[in-house]
Amino acid sequence: MLEKDVWPIGVFTSIDAGLGVRLEVASELKIPTIQLHAPMREGRSPALAEKFIQSLDELGIKLTCVFGGFEGESYEDIPTVERTVGLVPAETRASRLQEMREISDFARLLGCNVIGLHLGVVPHDRHCKDYQEIVNVTRQLCDHAATNEQALHLETGQETAEALRNFIVDTQRSNLFINFDPANMILYGMGNPIEALDVIGEYVRSVHCKDGLWSDQPGVTWGREVPLGEGDVGIEAYLNKLKEIGYRGPLTIEREIPQDPVRQKAEIQHAADLIHSLSAKIWR
Ligand code: MG
Repeated sequence: MLEKDVWPIGVFTSIDAGLGVRLEVASELKIPTIQLHAPMREGRSPALAEKFIQSLDELGIKLTCVFGGFEGESYEDIPTVERTVGLVPAETRASRLQEMREISDFARLLGCNVIGLHLGVVPHDRHCKDYQEIVNVTRQLCDHAATNEQALHLETGQETAEALRNFIVDTQRSNLFINFDPANMILYGMGNPIEALDVIGEYVRSVHCKDGLWSDQPGVTWGREVPLGEGDVGIEAYLNKLKEIGYRGPLTIEREIPQDPVRQKAEIQHAADLIHSLSAKIWR
């Protein structure tokens, strides 16, 4: 039997522009937890935090993670991700670290003890200067998050499971964990997501439920995101593996088609139904 509080369903939400759905959609779909894409700077005031907490209380929804994102990031194609995403691009690294600290402070105002991030495409050579600098900046962010009693969860996909594991080991911070996204492993061509959980499972503290199809040139061009259950992840095998590694946290649905909100909502509903039926089977 699925115990209460094990695997609550979640959905990725946004307040202003962003890939997630609005809070009201979570409420209409009766989804009890959310991750939140942090609003832009002007939306991160104490007054707005207060208002958001009030909405969560009224709707009975729990916030489980605040994700940072930055102006200038583009997921256009894989080379553009390398150039623009996360704390990797050197020219914006210092200012984005500062912004992540502010997002951590905002998350604290919201009473949330997890912040999340796409770190960007970390160089593979563990001894090169850039790699060391990214380790350093991640340490600084972890240390700031620790002052807010938070953990930092790195989203998967932009590197193999082995590379991410090495990076976490090298960073040496006890509040550094993983937000596992099985579809990203496929979309970026970074390995079989179920096998990846054998390598990094011990660090997984939050997950996305998202599906995707492999590219015909994995790692060179994008695969394609598709509705949950229609891609190459193998959702039943994924959930079984999460159970096996001892993961009991939220299953946060992500469907990144904000340009089509009607379809986005319908497909999230469908994903929630699929997870409910698979969970019932797995925990029977
Ligand atoms: Mg994701």
